[in-house]
Amino acid sequence: MTDYSTSMRTDRCGDLRVGDVGRTVTLCGWVDRRREHGEHLAFVDLRDRSGVVQLVVDGAHDLRSEFVLRVTGTVRERPADTANDALATGAVEVDAQAVEVLAAAEPPPFPLDERTEVDEVLRLRHRYVDLRRPRLQRNLEVRARVNSAVRGAMEEQGFIEVETPMLVASTPEGARDFVVPSRKEPGSFYALPQSPQIFKQLCMVGGVDRYYQIARCLRDEDLRADRQFEFMQLDAEASFVSQDDVLAFISHAVAAAAEAVTGVRPGEIGRMSWEEAMERYGSDKPDVRFGMELVELTDVFAGTEFRAFQAPCTKGIRVPGGADTSRNRLDDLTERCKRWGAKGLVWMRVTPDGLDSPVAKFLTDDEQAGLRTAMEAEVGDLLLLVADERRTARHILGLLRLELGRPPVTEGGLHFLWVVDFPLFEALDEAGNPIPAHHPFTMPHEDDVHLLDGGDLLAVRSQAYDLVLNGWELGSGSVRIHRREVQERIFSLLGIGPEEAQAKFGFLLDAFRYGAPPHAGFAFGMDRLTAILAGEENIREVIAYPKTQSGADPLTDAPTPIDDRHLEELGLRVLPPAE
Ligand code: ASP
Repeated sequence: MTDYSTSMRTDRCGDLRVGDVGRTVTLCGWVDRRREHGEHLAFVDLRDRSGVVQLVVDGAHDLRSEFVLRVTGTVRERPADTANDALATGAVEVDAQAVEVLAAAEPPPFPLDERTEVDEVLRLRHRYVDLRRPRLQRNLEVRARVNSAVRGAMEEQGFIEVETPMLVASTPEGARDFVVPSRKEPGSFYALPQSPQIFKQLCMVGGVDRYYQIARCLRDEDLRADRQFEFMQLDAEASFVSQDDVLAFISHAVAAAAEAVTGVRPGEIGRMSWEEAMERYGSDKPDVRFGMELVELTDVFAGTEFRAFQAPCTKGIRVPGGADTSRNRLDDLTERCKRWGAKGLVWMRVTPDGLDSPVAKFLTDDEQAGLRTAMEAEVGDLLLLVADERRTARHILGLLRLELGRPPVTEGGLHFLWVVDFPLFEALDEAGNPIPAHHPFTMPHEDDVHLLDGGDLLAVRSQAYDLVLNGWELGSGSVRIHRREVQERIFSLLGIGPEEAQAKFGFLLDAFRYGAPPHAGFAFGMDRLTAILAGEENIREVIAYPKTQSGADPLTDAPTPIDDRHLEELGLRVLPPAE
């Protein structure tokens, strides 16, 4: 047990119990609530990080909400009929003998109870008040526990924490860099690291064979519920390892974090190939907490006369009991699919009289029967079909599946999943150059290396893997290319010429001349993991000082303009905003 007594207090408010009855205690904290009790007496709930306890105070007129007090009094048992079971300290109260106001307070800008919905900008502007709420106190504690468990787990496995710089050259994660102008070299800029990727690989060349860091990463991307400009990653890299070793290291770390918060150690984390995830869930971060899997129907309609189904691929999902979906909603879903890139959406209601759908008349009896069998359709279900290129059909149905069936991310327990064998390239750009699916240092899958020379580039698998939790991508990693000639070959495929490669990553390529060990690594988002473990759907709730959705910080008002003298020193001129 931690000793929380200090020169100013003997105990914490939330720790007092019946066993303390009769003791004289000194407490410090904020006035949570006060209730009058007769003319002179008031009940004052005093709050600190540990919780609240009820004080009985004589002549309490000038004690207002959020005043900071130091109170000495005697702990006594509450009369049975006034005990409060909902409160950990509910069986006792403190009969206050001395009350000292350590700081007066203006009325808080919003009520601190958990019932009132408060505008987020207001909360963030007064984050110091917001942080006093039990929910945020608890979330910060969960976060600290996750950090500590992850550190412990990595260190148990022989990883050492190495810090890498914040002012760096551009990093290759594919997002937009935040940049910092150089005063010493006007016109030149540092980038803030999107990840410590290059430095951790250099650590491997430097003989640090198990590196980790809880690293701050910065990416200038649009913000969402699960994304902030700056975020924390558990970043790790190890030498003389295979993919299996890395998966084991990271599995151990996330299991330790989950156990530290929930008390239960999750079981072994299953694996699924990227191809299977796309086929069954239409997503590379499949939410396996619910069914509604994508059903392959291409064969059912192989000889169809129905034009819309004469496509390379037809797939569908079954919405159990969805037949009562309104026409408006179906039109809305169709519109949405079109916006996502589909040519259209075919819907069918399964009724006792057969399939109710605008397209049913174009399908033969065999096709209708084959469809029902393949989809295990029952009366009352809704069937949704997309026919298109395989990529598109999977993508659209994957999104529809989430739209129609996805529970909140915090529900249904913790479902971790490793997705392995990602493709090396995501697509081809306009110039026909492949775009890396991970980053350009990812090792191709051994069995697919031959395809790099004139084969189907989009079919090349990589040794890259993702960790998914309840449909959220927690993180990614890969076995790296450690040989210079392979790295150069990949750069050239990516359309990065020798000069560009040298300019951007020359220091990595150079390092590889001096004996680079085979190595592999991973990074996962601490904010995302913490949010799910804390039962929060938005990572802002587990970050002490987050930015709003638009990237602003209402607390410090960042970002702000800088004065002309400063600009001049940096050799910068600000243009008027573009029309
Ligand atoms: N640097 C990668 C990322 O931030 C993770 C890794 O490959 O280790 O996603």
